[in-house]
Amino acid sequence: MKMLRYSFLMTLLLLLPAILFAQKREKKKKEEEKPAVVAPQPVVEDKPVDDVPRNKNAKGTIIEFKPPYNHMLVLAEDDEEGRYRHVFLTDSTLFPKHKVSYNKDKRKPVKPKDLISRSFFRAGMEINFHFDHYQSSLRNVAKEIYLDDDYFGNAKVNGILEFRDGNRAVIDGHEVRLDNGAVIKGEEEWKNKTFTTFNQMQLGAELTVRGRRDTTGVIFVKKGTMRPVDITKDDLMMRRAMNRAMVMNKDVLQIGKETSFRFVTDRNIFAYVNDIGQKLIPEYLKSLDIEHPDFINFKFYLVHDDSFNASAYPNGTVIVHTGLLKQLENEAQLAAILGHEIAHVTQRHHTKSYRNGKDWQAFADFSNVALGTQVSSDIPAQVIQAAKDMKYSSYDRNQETQADRIGLQYMFNAGYDPREAAKIWDKLAREEKNDIESPIEAEALQFAMNASSTGEQRADNNDRAKKMAAMGQSMRKQDFALMMFRNVAAKKGESVYASHPRSRDRYNHVNFLLSTAFAFKDFEKLSTGESEFKNIQSKITAPASTPVPTSTPPGSGSNGPKPPKPLKTPKSKPGGKSFVKPK
Ligand SMILES: [Zn+2]
Repeated sequence: MKMLRYSFLMTLLLLLPAILFAQKREKKKKEEEKPAVVAPQPVVEDKPVDDVPRNKNAKGTIIEFKPPYNHMLVLAEDDEEGRYRHVFLTDSTLFPKHKVSYNKDKRKPVKPKDLISRSFFRAGMEINFHFDHYQSSLRNVAKEIYLDDDYFGNAKVNGILEFRDGNRAVIDGHEVRLDNGAVIKGEEEWKNKTFTTFNQMQLGAELTVRGRRDTTGVIFVKKGTMRPVDITKDDLMMRRAMNRAMVMNKDVLQIGKETSFRFVTDRNIFAYVNDIGQKLIPEYLKSLDIEHPDFINFKFYLVHDDSFNASAYPNGTVIVHTGLLKQLENEAQLAAILGHEIAHVTQRHHTKSYRNGKDWQAFADFSNVALGTQVSSDIPAQVIQAAKDMKYSSYDRNQETQADRIGLQYMFNAGYDPREAAKIWDKLAREEKNDIESPIEAEALQFAMNASSTGEQRADNNDRAKKMAAMGQSMRKQDFALMMFRNVAAKKGESVYASHPRSRDRYNHVNFLLSTAFAFKDFEKLSTGESEFKNIQSKITAPASTPVPTSTPPGSGSNGPKPPKPLKTPKSKPGGKSFVKPK
């Protein structure tokens, strides 16, 4: 791994003249006003002789792409570790609307009308990229970058109908409109029925719609189907077992044997957090009778814990740590966190995670025990175990993205300014970045980032290099810079530009949604709710120091009360504060 990072750093420095060269050519090309259709060209003149490019294709999400648009940071889908890939662009990188075909190694010509401007691409977009991967320097040079076929053409959305208004609706957090003449067919209990406006349809039903997505991100529906949401036995079992595994005792919420929280008992604070949570619950669930099998009994607790975290359980219990609340700036930001957690519950991510997870047996036991009619009032050990395991069943990236997307709609529908959600991630991303840097590391990191950027930044690099050389005394400035890069990289455990942890990723995704699905919404009249929030925030005090009465489930064989353990606290980065995204 160390070698890899080192090689990459070397490349970065080696690449500098090439980028200068590429920019010069770009300028020249603009003057000549030729269409950007040119044959692939060798990009770097000073590359090592044995640096053989290998042809590769990948899919990913743009994390960062800024003027002068010659470098893209991409989170590749095939990379399980969530590392970012640096993709360098050149004059000959094409941005076609669709995949380019090749005849042997020769790129077939692309008509200018089938090209899009590179500045069209934004952070948050999902792209396909075809690139040369240089095996020795580990450099990626893009040949073509294009969106999925359905970005401009066909789009398919499947999910719960969360909101509707005539020909407008929100499905799975996406903004959709019914095209003229569009027909939605009913299935199962709506068999033989057809629908031509969303108002005729059932909120909370599952819709699958097909249509066309325009460049604003709105999907224009041509056809689709509607059926009832399939709440499975597994979902219901999970909820019931979770209810059994949770025990309230005075100010303690006990979950299974080992997990307990002291919640904030101040009636005003308790009511404040719970009221915001209740407001965010989607309409279709609010209107259900308590006896209805789909009913979810949402409850929101603020618990004493200094970490920046929040979590949701399948029975609708949502827990917010005081450490998170203290970091937020207003009510809208709290609504963003709660909305995200509610979405995990409404989308039944727990069941899906369990089912997709490796621990099939645990889930089977969990289900059997929860369903068994012989279950007495004792909480069976397996249920406790399963409940305890809940905290370890993490959501996958798609589920997090879905929760962000739907959570944003929940907060918007409840009257909160969704831009506040982006602010949370932006703030966290900045704080994460600040964690790693000593002054000299900051210089080195900035130096590395500038290497592929504007002329102004490159001029700035001369000063930085001098500063770093002075700090490094007798070392050559480049050697010293390299050493510092490696330190930074080793600390981050990621690539060199690794000042882009997941918070930055989520910030970009939320921003992308705001500029597409929310493009035409008026945010100005929406609330951020600052003064009351600050008031509540100032009232949070540490819990009284009386010993916590640990409620021990009967029959669990415990020898009396034990001090409660908090939920698994997130890993801290070496030398850093622990800032963790709510799960
Ligand atoms: Zn989450």
